[in-house]
This record gives sequence, C-alpha cells and structure tokens, in this order.
Amino acid sequence: MDTIKDVWIKGGKVFGSNGSLAPDGAVADVLVKDGKIADAGKTPPTPEIRQIDATGSVVIPALTDIHAHIYWGATALGVKPERAASRSGTATFVDAGSAGAANILGFQEFIHRPSPFNTFAFLNISFPGIYGFSPRVMIGEAENPKLLDAETCADAAREFSDLVVGIKVRAGRIAAGDNGDGALRRGLNAAERAGLPLMCHVDLEPPRIVDILDSLRPGDILTHCCRPEPNAPIDDGQIRDAAWKAKERGVLFDIGHGMGSFSFQTCRTMVDAGFVPDLISSDIHCMSINGPAYDVLTTMNKLLALGVSFDAALAATTSRPAGIIGHPELGRIEVGQTANIAVLKADGGAFPLFDVSGEHIDFEGAFSCQHLIARGALVPPADMQN
Ligand SMILES: [Zn+2]
Repeated sequence: MDTIKDVWIKGGKVFGSNGSLAPDGAVADVLVKDGKIADAGKTPPTPEIRQIDATGSVVIPALTDIHAHIYWGATALGVKPERAASRSGTATFVDAGSAGAANILGFQEFIHRPSPFNTFAFLNISFPGIYGFSPRVMIGEAENPKLLDAETCADAAREFSDLVVGIKVRAGRIAAGDNGDGALRRGLNAAERAGLPLMCHVDLEPPRIVDILDSLRPGDILTHCCRPEPNAPIDDGQIRDAAWKAKERGVLFDIGHGMGSFSFQTCRTMVDAGFVPDLISSDIHCMSINGPAYDVLTTMNKLLALGVSFDAALAATTSRPAGIIGHPELGRIEVGQTANIAVLKADGGAFPLFDVSGEHIDFEGAFSCQHLIARGALVPPADMQN
C-alpha cells in the first residue's frame, strides 16, 4: 500500500492548541505536504492531493496515550499499537513499565525503531519489567527486592534517554506482594537518580494510598487514579485530604483504565468535586484492549460522559502528556512540524462505555475516529494492515 503523505483536511473545527493555525474551535483547512503541516495560504494544494471532508468533525493533534503496554512479542501483556491507533486517533504510545533495564534494548530495537508511531517508555524499576502477566500466570515483578536495583534502573534510563521518559513502579499487593513500600521507595530512588518523573501504580495495600500520595513529588504521576475503592484517592465517597494535598503540590493524576482500574463511581465523585484527572490513558494490554478499556479515545469518552469539558479532556490526551514526555510538538498542530493529526466525529463512539464494575453509560456525544495521520503518513484502518 502506498504511503500517503499529502493530505488536505477541509472544513473541520480545528483545535490545534497553540500551534496557531487558527483559534481553537475555528473552522479551517489543514494541509499536510510531504508529511509536514504546511501553510495552506502559501502552498496551494495540488489537484491530485488526497482530500478529507471534515465538515462537522473536529481536527485535533493525534492523541498521546501515556499509559499503554506495547512491548508485543517480548512480554505477554503487550499488544501491537496498530490495533488501537487508527480506531482511536492515537499517534503516540508511551509504554508504562513493560520493560526494565534488562530488556529496554529490545524495546528500542524491535518496537521503538521500526514503529510507524511515536513510541516512548517508562522504565520499570524491576530489572526484567512486567514478565509474568497473563490470564493464568500472574507474578508481580516488584515482589522480589533483588530485582529492584535503583542504580541499574537509573543507568539504563540515562543510556536510553531518547526513549525513556520516566520510571515506573507497580506498588501494590498484586504487583509487589508484601514489598509494596520497598518497591515505592526504590522507584523514587531510581527516578531521583535519573532526574525523571515516577509513574506509580496503585492496587491493594501495601502501600496505603495515602503513603503513596504523600511520597510523590511534583511532576510524579499516580496512575489508576479512578480505581474502585478500597485504597483509592476517594474513601467512602469523599476525596481524601492526601489527594487534594498531592494535587496542590503538582502530583499528576492519570486514569490508566486497564481491566480493573476505572470506576465510574470513583471518577464521578472526583469530577463532581472539581478534581479533574490531569491525564487520560488506556492502560491497554492483552486483557483490556478488547474491553473494558479498548483505547484512549474510548477512555476519553467516559470522562466526557461524566461531564469533563472537551477542552480539559483534549488537554489530558494531547498537550499535557506530550509536554510530560518532552515532546510538546506532538500535542499541537503547528506549521512546519511533522503531522500527527486525528479527525474525530461525535457520533456516539465506536465502543460501549462500561467501567470495570460493569456500570454502563449511554452517551450520544462520544467521539469516534475517522482519520489518523501519524508521523506524517495517513494510517489505514487496522483491518487493512498486515
Ligand atoms: Zn499498566
């Protein structure tokens, strides 16, 4: 199949967020020439260019999924990003700790370099990464303190600084057994040494959610922030003081939906109190990509269904994660930059909106993705790729 790198997107409402092609929400054309965003006024489109009629649609920077598992073939939980990209308008996938120091080289060689998408990684504090995660075999990579060497992790983060954007620790009973507090401390130590943010997973205690929240530094990320109680940022239907204090300090709250970590009830309590999550991500892996998470666009639809504004949801899936990974250009539509663009229509969405407890919401305003341009090239639908 020929790669299409010249595209004229006509008549959509553009939300380029500071790329300054047009004010956010204005109807404008977006021209992609040789994979780069061009000035339609200066470079008139040629007649043979691929045209996309975006009337009635929104044209946005392609989404950045800051918590995904894409180390396909090397870890059992990994999925090919191709499966989720075109259906969700996602051009940037950040792997959240599938690889550790022992196998980040493989991530670089077999995933990052050949990928048609922008790919990055949070490096797991555990040496082998998430090595035992499947429907029948489930071994926490943070259970054994011998696997958690902060210096080794920080050295690898520095060596692979082109793609490693932070450190990941899965601190919680399921991933760390009794070692949750120790895993959290070592994760923080590695992040400190590497000068990078820490993304911390939470499940059951230990550690207690309040201890995690009190330990995280400004710029660190709590993922699975809308998990069902217990050990959630809400307790008995109220947001914990420790969560408010962490938010005020600059700790970022990330959805990380996955198979067990997103509850409408938790999220509703937070949103109704004005505690809007900073980052919306899918946590797609082998047991969440076919539901209940599906992808980051479906996760974003759930937040919209609960009343989060379009602007806030868009920032949480584009400019904010792109900034955190040190690539703000991936979160805007700007003349001269490589095109990473999604065209979305509010037509009810591609997937039903279920949370992990089985609660279902009907939402007519849910978005589906009509077109994706990733790294300058139009991405065909997943069923047309090999
Ligand atoms: Zn995950």
